[in-house]
Amino acid sequence: MKVLVVGGAGYIGSHASYELIRAGHEVVVLDNLSTGSRAAVHQDARFYWGDIRRKSDITKVLLTEAETKPIDVVMHFAAKLVVPESVEQPLAYYENNVEGLRTMLEAMVDCGVRNVVFSSTAAVYGEPEEPVCREDDPTKPINPYGETKLACEQMIKWVAAAHDLNYCILRYFNVAGADSTLEIGLNKDQLTHLIPLIMQTALGQREKFYIFGNDYPTHDGTCIRDYIHVTDLARAHVLGAQYILKSNDSLLVNLGSGKGFSVAEVVNAAQALFDFEYEYAPRRAGDPAKLIASNQRAANLLGWKPSLSLDDIIKSDYAYRRILLEQ
Ligand code: UDP
Repeated sequence: MKVLVVGGAGYIGSHASYELIRAGHEVVVLDNLSTGSRAAVHQDARFYWGDIRRKSDITKVLLTEAETKPIDVVMHFAAKLVVPESVEQPLAYYENNVEGLRTMLEAMVDCGVRNVVFSSTAAVYGEPEEPVCREDDPTKPINPYGETKLACEQMIKWVAAAHDLNYCILRYFNVAGADSTLEIGLNKDQLTHLIPLIMQTALGQREKFYIFGNDYPTHDGTCIRDYIHVTDLARAHVLGAQYILKSNDSLLVNLGSGKGFSVAEVVNAAQALFDFEYEYAPRRAGDPAKLIASNQRAANLLGWKPSLSLDDIIKSDYAYRRILLEQ
C-alpha cells in the first residue's frame, strides 16, 4: 500500500514510517517540522514540507502523488499531546488537533482518498470507573488534550458516514522507547513524559526526578499507566491500515499492554538498572489516577499483541538518549 504519514517527522510518525517501510510499503511524509525533524524521516520515504492546517499543502501532496499512484491510506500524527500544556493552552489544542484534522479530512474527501488511520488516546476515558478501559466504555475526558482527541474521533465518524470513508482509530496508552536501529526516538527540547525524564536523570542531564503526587487512590499513591513500546505501536498502524483496506470497514481499538505500572514502580524498575535521585512533588494538573487498556479487541481484529516489555522500553529510551548526548 501507499501511505501518506502526516506528521511523519515526529516521534510516533517516524516509527510508523520505519515499520511501514520494513513491511514493504511505500511511504510519503508531510510535516511542517515544528516539533519533528527532517533527520527522522526514513531515507526511503518521500518528504513534503507542509502544514496540516493549510488545505492546499495537503491537496498538493495527494494530487502530486496520484500522478504516479494514488495514496491508499492517510495516517495522522500531527497533533499536540502534552496534558499539562493542554490545560494551559486549550485554544492551541483545539486549533492544531481539531482544526488540523478537519482540514486534512476535507482535503482527503476532495481528492477521493478514503482511508484514514488516526492517533487517539487513553485520555478520552477520563477517570475510568472500571479497572481496565474497554473501547465501549464511557468517554469523559478530564483535560483539553483528551477532549480534542474525542472531538476528532467524533468528527471522523460523521465524515466517514457522510463521505464513505474507512477509519482506524487507535487509542494509545503510554508510548515510550526507541526504534531498534536507535536512529529515531523521542527527541524534543521540552520533555514532559515520565520515561524520557527518568532516563535524562539517569544520564545526569537532570539533577533529580520528581514523582508528581503520592496521594492518588492507587496501591502506592502514585498514578498507574499502561506503557507500550513505540515499535509495537507502530506495528499496529500497519495492521490497522491493512485491515481497513482489505475489509472496507472501520474500527476503533485500544493499544496498550493490558498491564498497569505505578509511577513509583517505573522508577523502581529504572533504579534496578541505573542510579539516580528522585523525590515526591505535588500532583500535576489533569492527571487521572489510573489508565490501563483492555487490548482484547486489537488482538481479535488485528491479531496484535505487544511483544516488548517495560524493561525493553526503558533500555531502548536510555540507549537512544545516550546516542543523542554523544552527538
Ligand atoms: N510523571 C511524574 N513525573 C514526571 C513526569 C510524569 O510523576 O516528571 C507522571 C505523571 O504525573 C503521570 C505519569 O507520570 O502520572 C505519566 O505521565 P506522562 O506525562 O508520561 O504521560 P500521560 O499519562 O500524562 O500521557
